[in-house]
Amino acid sequence: MRFDSYLIKYAEIGVKGKNRYLFEDALVKQIRYSLRRTEGEFNVYKFQGRVMVECSGDFDNDSVCDALSHVFGIVGICPVLVKELTDYETLKKDVALYMKEVYAGETITFKSYARRIDKNYPVLSPQMNRDFGEAVLAEMDNASVDVHDPQVTLSVEIRDKAYIYSKVLPGPGGMPVGTAGKAMLLLSGGIDSPVAGYMIGKRGVTIDAVYFHAPPYTSERAKQKVIDLASLVASYTGPINLHVINFTDIQLYIYETCPHDQLTIIMRRYMMRIAETLALQSECLGLITGESIGQVASQTMQSLMVTGEVCTLPVYRPCIGMDKQEIIDISEKIGTYETSILPYEDCCTIFVAKHPVTKPTLKGTLISEQKLSEKIDDLVRTALETDEVIRVAAR
Ligand code: ATP
Ligand code: MG
Repeated sequence: MRFDSYLIKYAEIGVKGKNRYLFEDALVKQIRYSLRRTEGEFNVYKFQGRVMVECSGDFDNDSVCDALSHVFGIVGICPVLVKELTDYETLKKDVALYMKEVYAGETITFKSYARRIDKNYPVLSPQMNRDFGEAVLAEMDNASVDVHDPQVTLSVEIRDKAYIYSKVLPGPGGMPVGTAGKAMLLLSGGIDSPVAGYMIGKRGVTIDAVYFHAPPYTSERAKQKVIDLASLVASYTGPINLHVINFTDIQLYIYETCPHDQLTIIMRRYMMRIAETLALQSECLGLITGESIGQVASQTMQSLMVTGEVCTLPVYRPCIGMDKQEIIDISEKIGTYETSILPYEDCCTIFVAKHPVTKPTLKGTLISEQKLSEKIDDLVRTALETDEVIRVAAR
């Protein structure tokens, strides 16, 4: 059966009281955005505690579902058969034929779950359940009723029309982007930071990003990889303003001036400082990194403390308690993994010491940073002047 409507279920956003319409409007907006490159015409609108997507023209159901599965806030995508409410006998027949066609050749247990959203409809729900059950059994040999643990729940919602559905494809959950303020993601070419951006975006946060590159030590290909990752994250979060900062001179200066076992930690502190400056300029309410406790030397508790010390904005680290494999699982699920593992160099991997400190102290780090005082402010200013802002959309 080809469906031309989808009933969208959302959970968390349904309980936001007076602000509910803001969440629904954001959801509608994000759904429209997600479908903008999908072939066909789509009418997306709010409708009695649900959102409806009506498709027309030359659309393909799989492409529509794929687009919808990228929209935070959606918990269920239900392909729905919409029928005019004529007489009750016709409705029973429509329901039975729907089941017969959707589950052709399958042996199923089912129960009917009818609801009168329009309370003026003359038949009560328990009666409808009995009637629809009977009509389906009369039409299908291989179906039986199980009201306690059915394989299929046949939903029939009586509104201005009858909405018949039984399949619910999972959405990503979360809250619609645009309902929670904005944050600045430190996006490298690795596995973790795209996942971190996805996770914070899932809570409704609009994402901006910053990438530090170090030409000629890092290539244009490495930069393109980060743009590609931003584009993949943007398929969930909407367009991302990606700041690209030339970090080479700062890195070289730290390399020349500071003890090599402290290179990474000091470099990370300058990344955070610059990211915070950009974040404040663009009204972000926090920073996001892909750090996870103990993953590498620069992510021990001591290192995180020393890195975080330069920030006044909160630093969100959604991967903090995850094992690498758990992060990889998410990156595979969201489609960033294949790009993340492409072998292009990252500025962090070029200037690394053989034995970086794993337990830096703030005091020791500050003493080393003092050695930078002659030029570092100018270099940071110059780096900020190199800021290239690329607006990255989903492809
Ligand atoms: P990732 O997989 O995200 O690159 P990682 O395991 O390689 O993480 P690090 O290289 O220590 O870890 O980086 C920790 C975090 O710092 C990253 O998750 C990212 O948020 C940020 N970061 C590192 N390098 C860069 C960079 N070149 N540009 C922007 N942010 C960066
Ligand atoms: Mg990295």
